Amino acid sequence: MELSSAFEKGWRNRLREMEIPISVKNDEFLLHCLEIIKSGGRINLSDGLKLYNTTNLPALCSLANLVKRSRFGDNVFFNENLHVNTTNVCVLACRFCAFRKGSRHSDAYELSVDEVIHRIQPFSDSIDEVHSVGGLHPQWTVDHYAELYSKIKNNFPHIHVKSLTAVEIKHIASRSGISVTETLKLLKKSGLNSIPGGGAEILVDSVRDRICRGKENSSEYLEIHGLAHSLGIPSNCTMLFGTVETVEERLIHLDKLRIQQDETSGFQCFVPYPFLPDKTRLPEAQLATTSEIIRIIAVSRLMLDNIPHIKAYRMNIGDFVASLCINSGADDIDGTVGNEEIMHEAGSKTRLDYDKNQLSKLIISSGQIPVKRNSVYTNFEEYEPVISKAIVMPINY
Ligand code: SF4
Repeated sequence: MELSSAFEKGWRNRLREMEIPISVKNDEFLLHCLEIIKSGGRINLSDGLKLYNTTNLPALCSLANLVKRSRFGDNVFFNENLHVNTTNVCVLACRFCAFRKGSRHSDAYELSVDEVIHRIQPFSDSIDEVHSVGGLHPQWTVDHYAELYSKIKNNFPHIHVKSLTAVEIKHIASRSGISVTETLKLLKKSGLNSIPGGGAEILVDSVRDRICRGKENSSEYLEIHGLAHSLGIPSNCTMLFGTVETVEERLIHLDKLRIQQDETSGFQCFVPYPFLPDKTRLPEAQLATTSEIIRIIAVSRLMLDNIPHIKAYRMNIGDFVASLCINSGADDIDGTVGNEEIMHEAGSKTRLDYDKNQLSKLIISSGQIPVKRNSVYTNFEEYEPVISKAIVMPINY
């Protein structure tokens, strides 16, 4: 299906021709923002902040949904993937992290290359992507990951390998005594296809210092992604919000991603997710409300004009909030995500047993059209769930 080019080309022209929702028409400031976007301009930080703080949340959602529809119509994307976390052993101890363990902890684990292959095997006919991240292992070097990726590719050539956060790449390079660029080149050659984007947290160093001291700083996160883009490795970018940051700092984060994307164009998707507190060490966190999650989705759709996809990550926010977000600017709900651990350790209750039929039912129940995509958003396939649409019940708000 030739959706890809149709999606991206001329969305502002389509936006100019679309009927403006009455709620937006009746809000002078939202109308002003729509005019900026239509004319090819950008929502700046101060307007972004005003958008975020609007008391007219339904109209903000309508505006973000309008812009989403100008790019992707009523389509909402998903894929079929499996998460495999290679190890929870980590030399760092980010305060928001419920996943990491010290190497002597009774629940610490590290999967051998063959164990990863055995994990993938039972799912290999139904997935086309493995999403693999882990802790900063004290011993593993680039050779370990190169062996892992080439074995995955040898065994499952059809599977896209989306792996490693920026800090893992930095750590592997340092453990191996080579540069980040050299590390990325070796990993790409052995089978790494893309980078998932985790670990951005908030790209403001004073915040990082409080929640993840010792991790790469903001510039390093952006630089590592930029290097990957320059080597032809696309990535996603993320934001962890609802810890100790201010709303202004969330918007500074969006602006930094937008600036990086202007330079290297390799971000495919922005994935914001709120902090989940179980088993973490951040008692002062100001947890994000559902309204804040939706506001972030909507404002990111309006500010990030150069990052095509905005993801409502249901593993973190759950089906109910995800269904609201795909009517408020998001166009993607990620995938089947078998075996997710990181969000579930921190308290997520999202079901892990969804197949593409159930994901499609969720999308249809939210009034949208399910479209299965590949990992790099170049192949699309409208998916008709096996059950009749007539018996798909809406999610109760
Ligand atoms: S977030 Fe990543 S780097 Fe930080 S402690 Fe957890 S596993 Fe380690």
